[in-house]
Amino acid sequence: MSNLDTRPDVVVCGGRTAVPAAPVHEVLPGREVRLGESTMVRRLLPTLGRRLVGAWCFLDHYGPDDIADAPGMQVAPHPHTGLQTVSWLLDGTVLHRDSLGSEQLLEPGRLGLMTAGRGIAHSEQSPVPHPHLLHGAQLWVALPEAYRHVPPAFDHHPDLPVVTDRGLSATVLLGTLAGATSPGTTYSPLVGADLTVAAGADVRLPLEPDFEYAVLSASGAADVDATALAPGALMYLGTGRTEVRLRTDTPARLLLLGGEPFAERIVMWWNFVGRSGDEISRYRREWNDGDAFGVVRGYRGDRLTAPPMPATPLKPRGSLNEEVKPLAWPAGGG
Ligand code: MN
Repeated sequence: MSNLDTRPDVVVCGGRTAVPAAPVHEVLPGREVRLGESTMVRRLLPTLGRRLVGAWCFLDHYGPDDIADAPGMQVAPHPHTGLQTVSWLLDGTVLHRDSLGSEQLLEPGRLGLMTAGRGIAHSEQSPVPHPHLLHGAQLWVALPEAYRHVPPAFDHHPDLPVVTDRGLSATVLLGTLAGATSPGTTYSPLVGADLTVAAGADVRLPLEPDFEYAVLSASGAADVDATALAPGALMYLGTGRTEVRLRTDTPARLLLLGGEPFAERIVMWWNFVGRSGDEISRYRREWNDGDAFGVVRGYRGDRLTAPPMPATPLKPRGSLNEEVKPLAWPAGGG
């Protein structure tokens, strides 16, 4: 999945100032974003309200869409740096190709984990033919300074641990939940889990007090503690929890994200995560000018071009302790 905005916002985030030291229930509705020709997604991270949950720095939720008579997802080759992408399908299939030569059909219940590190390019497409439904989430995890230049990698994990309780089945995508640990490589303390909650369930999930958490409803409504979570919304839960209570009247599918608050300040622009405007500018130039990120073989069609940089230098504002704010592009940027 790519950020296809032609005028992407600069997002400067990180640091602990914006992390509440106690449990909260902050509902973040997200916004609709067009992804390519035919796919609409709900962008839940980053939003104006919150930019990071642990190292999770990007969350798009798409579908369920009937793509029987549509091309479905068509995201041409594009680069990434300084992050991992987590591809998670609830329905349908997506064909992943990358500049390492990986070609993997992604399916529900199986994790596609791409570590961009110092740089990679990939494409994501609904194959032909494809199932009628497409429903999933695309997430990014920011890599900490010590690991953000690691060599790129793609891993496919078809067998993930599942934790069950009365009315709950939780698949652990990354990290550890209730003693079950995903085989996926992580570079900071975090967790991601897909929760299938039965109608009428009332369950408590054990959490880490040092982590901050958020929960997305991919389908169905749920009460998180005593606060209602509507389908498609993200609820930020803060830190300082040993558990969260989930109750449902109807079946629900939830995504739990958590992690230690990410202490570093990062700069996100388009599909890059870096630490300065100059660095992002160099990534953009390297992508648009040549094959520094490698070539995605097997993809038919043109790759994406990075949009113009803003006229104003792109840099984090102020000190580490300032309130976290977005830096908007100047109108009509370069
Ligand atoms: Mn991507």
